[in-house]
Amino acid sequence: MADKKRIFIVEDERRIARFLQIELEHEGFETATESNGKRAFERIIQENYDLVLLDVMLPEMNGITICQKVRELSDIPIIMLTAKDDIEDKVNGLDVGADDYMTKPFAVPELLARIRVALRKHSDRNDYEEENEISTRYVVKDLVLFPERFEAQVKGELVELTKKEYLLLEYLVKNKRNVLSRDQILQTVWGYDYIGDTNVVDVYIRYLRSKIDDRFGDKYIHTVRGVGYVIKE
Ligand code: CA
Repeated sequence: MADKKRIFIVEDERRIARFLQIELEHEGFETATESNGKRAFERIIQENYDLVLLDVMLPEMNGITICQKVRELSDIPIIMLTAKDDIEDKVNGLDVGADDYMTKPFAVPELLARIRVALRKHSDRNDYEEENEISTRYVVKDLVLFPERFEAQVKGELVELTKKEYLLLEYLVKNKRNVLSRDQILQTVWGYDYIGDTNVVDVYIRYLRSKIDDRFGDKYIHTVRGVGYVIKE
């Protein structure tokens, strides 16, 4: 059962969520459900799913925003579930990196077919990258990030990072040379606003500096006074 695919159902209408859960489990998928948008974003990043079914209208954070934020960190397949006739949602969903969308109400066989296509495309892409050893790597000077393993190395030496530290570092590296504000960092890495407490970013930047800049005697993370942080070559 180890290779059962795990599908995360993000839907605030209990009836629909339950229906999807039963249908997908019947097809041999494992499922989990979430009705709150903010929690859904956190769980997509922190838990290990193979595909996300993502409703658009959700409490606290909508599906479009979730998709956009997830795409900064992950290429997990996402199928948006849009309300009937809501053309704008479809366009938005695809613009922000969803793999596909379905309009409610939808037929289960079509949804299953689209899920299989999205899973296959994703695994083909990964197989190709593995075979050709071109998995995504992010590089700044001697620092190399391995997103599929949440790992960072400097000069081939592993840097022990927590998941949050890794995600923060990856966000900085993916945006190297762009100064990122504390709010941008909070929203992307923590997924919600810590009202009045952007300190957490500074604290984590300190952790990263001690594990990377200090340990390897090279300055990676620069403070831009009054603005935020940037990683530079
Ligand atoms: Ca909804």
